[in-house]
Amino acid sequence: MALKIRQFPCLEDNYGFLIACSETGACAAIDTPEPARILEEARSAGWRLTEIWNTHHHWDHAGGNDTIRAANGARITAPQAEADKIGHIDTPVKPGDRVRLGALEAQVLDVGGHTLGHIAYWFESAGAAFVGDALFALGCGRLFEGTPQQAQAGLARLRDLPAGTIIYCAHEYTQANARFALSVDPENAALIDYAADVERLRARGEPTVPTTIAREIAANPFLRWDDAGLRARLGLETAQDWQVYGEVRARKDGFRG
Ligand code: ZN
Ligand code: FE
Repeated sequence: MALKIRQFPCLEDNYGFLIACSETGACAAIDTPEPARILEEARSAGWRLTEIWNTHHHWDHAGGNDTIRAANGARITAPQAEADKIGHIDTPVKPGDRVRLGALEAQVLDVGGHTLGHIAYWFESAGAAFVGDALFALGCGRLFEGTPQQAQAGLARLRDLPAGTIIYCAHEYTQANARFALSVDPENAALIDYAADVERLRARGEPTVPTTIAREIAANPFLRWDDAGLRARLGLETAQDWQVYGEVRARKDGFRG
């Protein structure tokens, strides 16, 4: 049995994902950025879309739930902590829960910070995680609701996943993220190589998503709070991990690259 994944662009810079269990055919949409596009993708794949799994409440992630549910009766799994903002939920979930897709199972991880109740879905057996706006290739989501401590703890949970875990993030922000990353970590050889790859891919109109945990640990400044070189450049040699993360986040928020 295997996890089948279809990734496609939605809206300006979102990605939509359809996932399916190869054994049972059970199919879920990870978030609902553009419902018409998602329904069409399921139709053209011949997949029967019966579930929606939300990562967080933002409109470009849960705003299409009602349209898809009205079209096919899909059942909605979403973070219990954001139920008041998401609306109809069939299966509210919380960190530590397990969610089934046919013969496959995903673990619900707490990656709150971008929004308070943000969750990720980790398929350990498939080595894949759907992380919404918590972590991006060479970046991470803005802190709209949580504290730097909370966000860094969530990113630490992702960083602790097996290094080969494939990370499906919800936006194509990588080119801009690379420019910022190079501004704070200019001598990181892994980052320099990664940024060059990103330029080549985007010049051909190709996605930079998915990425892997190993690649992000090597190059993403939001996961490198314990790197001595980055700490030295920020003047934070003795700071707490969350403070290093918080400083990188603050610099990105003010970055005009
Ligand atoms: Zn968001
Ligand atoms: Fe988003």
